[in-house]
Amino acid sequence: MHVIGTAGHVDHGKSTLITRLTGIDPDRFEEEKRRGLTIDLGFAWLTLPSGLEIGIVDVPGHERFIKNMLAGAGGVSVCLFVVAANEGWMPQSAEHLSILDLLSVHHGVVAVTKADMVDAETLDFAVAEVEDHLAGSTLAGAPVVPVSGVTGQGIAALLAALDRVVGLAPPASDTGRARLWIDRVFTITGAGTVVTGTMADGEMAVGDAVDIAPHGRPARVRSIQSHKREHERIGPGNRVALNLAGLERTGAERGDAVVAPGIWRPTKLVDVELRVPARAISGHDHALSEKGAFLFHAGSAETPVRIQLIERDEVRPGESAYARLWLRSELPLGPRDRFVLRDAGRMVTIAGGVVLDPLPGARRRAPGGLSLLRRLRGATPGESLAALVEDAGLLPASDAAARAGTATDEPLPSGASALGDMLVSSERLARLRASVTAALLAHHAAKPLDRGVEREALRAVTRLDPGAFDALLAGLSNVTGHGALVRLSSHRVAFDASQEASARALLARLTSAGFAPPLAADLGVEPALLRALVAGGELVKIGDFYLTGEQARAARECVRTAIGERGPLTVAQIRDLLGTSRKYAVPLCEWLDATGATRRTGDTRILGPNP
Ligand code: GDP
Repeated sequence: MHVIGTAGHVDHGKSTLITRLTGIDPDRFEEEKRRGLTIDLGFAWLTLPSGLEIGIVDVPGHERFIKNMLAGAGGVSVCLFVVAANEGWMPQSAEHLSILDLLSVHHGVVAVTKADMVDAETLDFAVAEVEDHLAGSTLAGAPVVPVSGVTGQGIAALLAALDRVVGLAPPASDTGRARLWIDRVFTITGAGTVVTGTMADGEMAVGDAVDIAPHGRPARVRSIQSHKREHERIGPGNRVALNLAGLERTGAERGDAVVAPGIWRPTKLVDVELRVPARAISGHDHALSEKGAFLFHAGSAETPVRIQLIERDEVRPGESAYARLWLRSELPLGPRDRFVLRDAGRMVTIAGGVVLDPLPGARRRAPGGLSLLRRLRGATPGESLAALVEDAGLLPASDAAARAGTATDEPLPSGASALGDMLVSSERLARLRASVTAALLAHHAAKPLDRGVEREALRAVTRLDPGAFDALLAGLSNVTGHGALVRLSSHRVAFDASQEASARALLARLTSAGFAPPLAADLGVEPALLRALVAGGELVKIGDFYLTGEQARAARECVRTAIGERGPLTVAQIRDLLGTSRKYAVPLCEWLDATGATRRTGDTRILGPNP
């Protein structure tokens, strides 16, 4: 579907022409509203001779062209430019053409209206004059068709020209990032709050949860109308009226946007490429500098803006430059959004441009920043994602998607990998992996008796969130880290000669003490050595004493064999069986239960599930 935007000097015959083309009078808005029969008030559309149906953005009343044009920009692919033959090219015509040029509108048809009011010579002159003005703009070479909205002269030729141009225009892009800039809000008795706008991207369906950006107010799509028909769902490139449930009339206004939740991030800071038109608009032919009061227009929104030029002091007519814009109010902007800057005092368009990075964060004017902007210029969503990941090294996947404008199912570019909810560049991933390996190596060298590093301590080295850290470890084949400790898989606890000697002495001492060993606190052995022996299975900690692994296995077997032969045993019987005292027998029985060797029933132990 295509949406056509109209442009042209006030009173040059736009409404008359649209009524003639569509049979719909865009100025009947108030009357339709009173009758309340429909929610897509004031919409005009027509079916071209080829059968293509096109919507027209021509908000009735005295709304300014620039706002209408921008409100549709994105969804608008073709422009219908109107110049009256009797008055010819006017300053407003020039400003409108400049705006279309800055917005990169490449497809259009010019209607030279009021052809019935002038003689043939004047008409030829008007057509030639328009063609001259178009030269050098994005609309250079567009068909220029003399018409009369009153007599119908030239209308068939105009329709044919529209058909040709619309057929050449690319369809509205669909990256699944639904956004509808609101151009009107009103209530209709029985329906509630209605918003209208041009669907620029993505799809909306009845029942969808949506947000009103930038406030984030939630609402639900109750019904959708386009061209007086009800739709279950509607895609990009359509004029749309949405009836929203759960939203007060005051909950949305022109300049807000209806968006799919979780995708759009309202922003006040955007990095852009600016362009100052080569030709003067309304006598304004100065270089653009940071000084001055400017208004930023994108979609149907408008907000004061401060300009920070990057690496230069001014942008002369015909030049482009990178800049950072500080917006007074947050707007749901995305990469590749077109905008226009106007001088707030004189209300004249002075520049336009395209958003390169809608969430640059507090990044300084670092040299890296400019190289990122150069890469983002003209990049596809996939190329933008690659550039952003490489530039940041590590960033949340949702930020990356919002900044690159990628669809949710966009495949990751080569050079980027996912770490939990983060995206990481190959280079940063290699560094993270190296830092983990280095930290483990250092720890193992400094503390050879330690089995590994506390997981949290190691995570602190990487400064990753838990999810990303787990993903990092999972991708490291040389690292083992299932529990709270992480170690190099190759790490073995190794004793030096004196540790080896103390270990042997300890094991001998415990073996000779049988099932009545000294308590742990009285062993006088360094804790790291004890931990290492437990880890190696040479010691088993039971209550507040240690047994050798050998003794623990023997106790287990001895008790299980006796239960097998004699039936359930009491603690006292087990005490006697092992030749120990109650002090040791109670924790031993509890340990046997815990390992599944035995099971307690009342005062006795029976066989547990683990042989
Ligand atoms: P808009 O402000 O551009 O929408 O202009 P309108 O469509 O409201 O037209 C302004 C005036 O010019 C109205 O009085 C129209 O009747 C008149 N008009 C518009 N188009 C034509 C035309 O093709 N021929 C003649 N004779 N008058 C026209």
